[in-house]
Amino acid sequence: GFKCGIVGLPNVGKSTLFNALTQTAAAEAANYPFCTIEPNVGEVAVPDARLETLTKIAGSKEIIPTRLTFVDIAGLVRGASKGEGLGNKFLSHIREVDAVAYVLRCFVDEDITHVENRIDPLADADVVETELMLSDLESLEKRISQIEKKAKSGDKEAKAQFAIMEKPLNLLREGKPARLAAMTPEEMPAFRALQLLTSKPVVYVCNVEESAAAEGNAYSKKVEERAKAEGAAVVVISAKIESEFAGLAPDDRDAFLAEMGLEEPGLNRLIRAGYSLLDLVTYFTVGPKEARAWTITRGTKAPQAAGVIHTDFEKGFIRAETIAYNDYVSGNGETGAKEAGKMRLEGKDYVVQDGDVMHFRFAN
Ligand code: GDP
Repeated sequence: GFKCGIVGLPNVGKSTLFNALTQTAAAEAANYPFCTIEPNVGEVAVPDARLETLTKIAGSKEIIPTRLTFVDIAGLVRGASKGEGLGNKFLSHIREVDAVAYVLRCFVDEDITHVENRIDPLADADVVETELMLSDLESLEKRISQIEKKAKSGDKEAKAQFAIMEKPLNLLREGKPARLAAMTPEEMPAFRALQLLTSKPVVYVCNVEESAAAEGNAYSKKVEERAKAEGAAVVVISAKIESEFAGLAPDDRDAFLAEMGLEEPGLNRLIRAGYSLLDLVTYFTVGPKEARAWTITRGTKAPQAAGVIHTDFEKGFIRAETIAYNDYVSGNGETGAKEAGKMRLEGKDYVVQDGDVMHFRFAN
């Protein structure tokens, strides 16, 4: 599955947000640094109204949304790349996620200590990013000197690898994150294999006070400006509101949101940001037993998409009976869509589209 890491300085609201996200009380929020020692891992259902519609049309007994994994990664502080705080542990946990959410403190509360004694989300983001960049710089420099020797002695593979390492290395030396490296699609797999912390896509999460949840505040506006300039994603959230929301009975939730001036929980926005950040799309399998959503990376072909369900589906893939979501709905189900000629038989080169309703045919 796909994983999004939640990182940030201590006391910015990571645990509060994570707990709200996963609706568990496992990692208790507390007003002191390093209270989350082990990374907490939680799965959240990806809200998707289409799945509910499909369930109704097909009369499916069970509805199974697709899921994203969030990992609450314990307190990063200045000096983490040199082993301060939970330094090395922190960095190794980040290496394992697909995207990173930087939680930034945008709320003012005299009672909650800020680890650097100031409210300045942009400076906080810089502290976090600097530690990640220093770590990347060190690991690349270590690796590149050996590769360079090999490359100079004429080793073709080493030459290619050297070329790929040089781009992010130059950026990092200028104090810029590796994700800004211009890589060709052909270079991407090798670039990803470098596993650089700053090559992962970033979403800024502005944790604002309750009263600013709908409109944001002066701090979150600054973060939004930066995100816009960088082409990064940004979500404004009140972790406190989200945690209250998570504790409510389902029947009370809509009224609570209306009272707060919100159309939907911030969690949905965060999940969607994570989804688009990772360039993920959803396809569906629908039957009388269950209607289910599956997550794949955009551009995935039918056999690999089938492989998400079961490796046998990929190995023995024959073809995929495919109906676009809109056609499924207009046809009021599979039969109607088929009668309207909207069911396609797709082969192994078909690129699965967001919303496709699929039925895989495979041989054992
Ligand atoms: P973490 O160290 O980043 O995981 O931060 P926590 O989630 O443990 O939060 C640290 C403290 O800040 C706790 O006492 C929270 O109750 C408090 N806190 C978190 N979010 C907010 C918020 O939006 N507003 C206010 N006033 N306090 C918050």
